[in-house]
Amino acid sequence: MDGRLGDAVAARRDDLVALTRELIRFPTINPPGDQYGPCVEFVGRRLALSGFSLDFVRAYGSPGDTDSFPRMNLVARREGVKPGPCVHFNSHIDVVEPGQDWTVDPFEGVVRDGRVYGRGACDMKGGLAASIIAVEAFLSVFPEFPGAIEISATADEESGGFGGVAYLAQHGYFSPGRVDHVIIPEPLNKDRVCLGHRGVWWAEIETFGEIAHGSMPFLGDCAIRHMSAVLQAFETELFPRLADRTTRMPVVPPGARSSTLNINGIHGGQTDDYRPGLPSPNVPDLCRATIDRRFLIEEKLSDVRGEVIAILEGLKHRRPRFEYRINDVMIVEPLMTSPESPVAEAIAGAIRDVFDREPKYVVSPGTYDQKHIARIGGLFDCIAYGPGILDLAHRPDEWVGIDDMVDAAKVMAGGLAALLFVPAK
Ligand SMILES: [Zn+2]
Repeated sequence: MDGRLGDAVAARRDDLVALTRELIRFPTINPPGDQYGPCVEFVGRRLALSGFSLDFVRAYGSPGDTDSFPRMNLVARREGVKPGPCVHFNSHIDVVEPGQDWTVDPFEGVVRDGRVYGRGACDMKGGLAASIIAVEAFLSVFPEFPGAIEISATADEESGGFGGVAYLAQHGYFSPGRVDHVIIPEPLNKDRVCLGHRGVWWAEIETFGEIAHGSMPFLGDCAIRHMSAVLQAFETELFPRLADRTTRMPVVPPGARSSTLNINGIHGGQTDDYRPGLPSPNVPDLCRATIDRRFLIEEKLSDVRGEVIAILEGLKHRRPRFEYRINDVMIVEPLMTSPESPVAEAIAGAIRDVFDREPKYVVSPGTYDQKHIARIGGLFDCIAYGPGILDLAHRPDEWVGIDDMVDAAKVMAGGLAALLFVPAK
C-alpha cells in the first residue's frame, strides 16, 4: 500500500471523530425512520465538497414511507479521469431505539477514553464516517484516478432494507455495469473480511382448537395444548438435529456455526391483560407461534421447511383433532462471496499491509443489506468490512474505538486503490 494513503488518513483523525459525532447527533431511529432526510442531506453536503454528484432517492411506497417519515437515501458518485471500475461504499444510516441503561446521552456523540459513544456509533455511523474519510484521503493522494467511486447512505437496514438498498437495487443502482465492487462498512472488526451471512426462514405456525367453557375443557379442544405438542416435538426431534448440523461457513460467533431455531413469539387464547375487568373462561381455539430458523449454505430452503412440516404432519397422526397452518413470513437465502473475489482480495491485502498479519474471513450470523445487492442487483462482488465490535451493536453505551476507525479507514483507502488501479488484463 502507498504510504501516503495511510498518512493522509492519519492526518484526518480529528476530522473522522468530528464527522462520527455529527452523524450520531441525527437520531435516525427506525422504526419509525426519523431524520433520514436531514441526515442524508448532511452527508451529501459533505461529499459535494469533494466533487461528488448527488442523487437523493426517496423509496416511495416502501414499508413505512410517509411524508412524515420519508425513506430517504443518498447515492453520491464521483467520476475519475478515465473509464475503469466503480467501487461503492454502502452504509445504512438508521439505528435502533436506544433502550434503557445508558450512562451517556445516546445522541450526543460523547468522546471518552479513545472511544466515541452513541446509538449507531459502531452500527454503523462510525463505518460510514470511516469510509468517507478513506475516500477523501484517497482523493487527496490520487486526484486523477480511473473509474468511479460511489458512497451511499441508505435507509431501513434494521427493518429489512426494503426502503433502502432493496429499493435502490430494484432501480438499477447496484447493477453490474454501474457498480463493480461493493464494501459495506458494518462493524465486523477491523481485521476481518465478512463474506456473507446465513439464510433466514421466518414462519408463522398456527394450531387450531374449538372454543368451550373453561370449566369443561373436555367439551372443546385446546389450541395451546396442540402448540405445546409442537414445541415438545421441536425439543425432542428438531433442536438436537439442528445442533448437530455444522457448516463450512466461517460464521461468528462459533455458536452460530450450526443451524439454529428461535421461537420469536407465541400467543394463544384471550389476552392476558385483564384490565379493565376480568376475562371470561374459554378454551382457546387458536394459537400462533413465530419461528426464526437460520440456515446454512449446505441446506436447501425446501428441506428446511420440509423438516418442520414433517414434524407437524407427524403430529396429525399422533394427536386427535390436530390441525395446523404454516405461513412464510420472510425468506433470505444464505450468501457467501468467495475469498478469491476481487473485493475480498483487495481488502484482505490492505489488512495485511496495515496490520502486518493475515485477515480473518467471517460470515455474519444474521443478514444485512448484502442480500439485496446480490439477489436483486445481481452483483456478487460484495463484502462487509468496517470498524467496531459486532457484539456492541444495539446495546446500551454502544461505542466505536477511534484507533479502530482510523485503522479501518486506512484499510478501506488501500482496498479502494487496489481495486481502481488494478492492472489491465
Ligand atoms: Zn448495521
